[in-house]
Amino acid sequence: MTKDKLARINEISRHSFSFIINIIATVLLFDIKRYSINDGPGIRITLFTKGCPLSCVWCHNPEGISAKKELLYTRRKCIGCATCVRVCPEQALRLTKAEGIVCDRAKCTTCNKCVEVCPTLALEMSGTDYTYDQLMAEIEKETPIMDSSGGGVTFCGGEPLLHHADMLAMLRRCSALGIHRAVDTTLYAPWDKVEQIADNCELLLIDLKHMDNRKHQLYCGVSNSLILANLRRVAEAGYPFWIRIPLVGDVNADDENLTRSADFLASLPWQEKRVDLLPYHDIGNMKHEKLATTYNPHNLPMRPPTEEEKTRATEIFTGKGLTAGIGG
Ligand code: SF4
Ligand code: SF4
Ligand code: SF4
Repeated sequence: MTKDKLARINEISRHSFSFIINIIATVLLFDIKRYSINDGPGIRITLFTKGCPLSCVWCHNPEGISAKKELLYTRRKCIGCATCVRVCPEQALRLTKAEGIVCDRAKCTTCNKCVEVCPTLALEMSGTDYTYDQLMAEIEKETPIMDSSGGGVTFCGGEPLLHHADMLAMLRRCSALGIHRAVDTTLYAPWDKVEQIADNCELLLIDLKHMDNRKHQLYCGVSNSLILANLRRVAEAGYPFWIRIPLVGDVNADDENLTRSADFLASLPWQEKRVDLLPYHDIGNMKHEKLATTYNPHNLPMRPPTEEEKTRATEIFTGKGLTAGIGG
């Protein structure tokens, strides 16, 4: 076989492989938010990947923590017709007096049949698989508004780095179309994955929860060591990033933690120096009801921050030369 023929065969194989990947590989999302103005510059489309290695007690999107699809149930919408019970091929559903529909999640295969027949939309499936091509089609619908506003696409979660290979593929496809790319991450991932994602996006939105390792473990389920180490490496490598801090009363909104956070951030070699303070609210409570899980199961102290705490937090960060504001 001539060299030319061999090169041609290799070329065809590469194209065929990439074509197949684009139509069969899927990313599991639990939400798509359009016209988002809080997830990076301009007006953006934000894609929420499902699955997170953290389990923050205050999480506003607990349906994003599990990396699997999950059935959600809203009792006030349920009329008790039991259609879902009859249609379930796994006998995973029961209609009870005390709780309405109860799902045995060990039996549920997330086939979606009950969702399709529920007349009142009391049942929903959290998690939709998108092929790369389908996801790009969703993103490209927003091109006019992204272009006119200086916006782009933001991958958020959950934790997008859990879907590292899919994220790389999507970021590269967006890059080829000149779409601005941001990734909202906890940085709780091996450095090589962080680095590859950072190389392929234009902005990282990095969540910083608590400087105290013990409290970080208590409230978020994991140590903060890897996160802080990765954050320093991101800064030292010169990748652009903004910091996002959930402001939670009785958890991290005290002077000591905020001063430690501000000192740490001010010590980093960092151009943007932007810190968004995101006040906690208890929207997660309602979502736990839909998941039939318990919000704050160990009753850890936690509350929305007071106005004084918000003002004080802003002053602490700006006092260290950072640009801080409430909201993102
Ligand atoms: S890192 Fe974000 S998505 Fe993950 S559990 Fe915490 S708040 Fe929820
Ligand atoms: S999703 Fe399928 S398996 Fe799960 S409860 Fe509904 S019908 Fe049953
Ligand atoms: S089909 Fe819907 S409305 Fe009827 S019992 Fe099931 S969840 Fe309730």
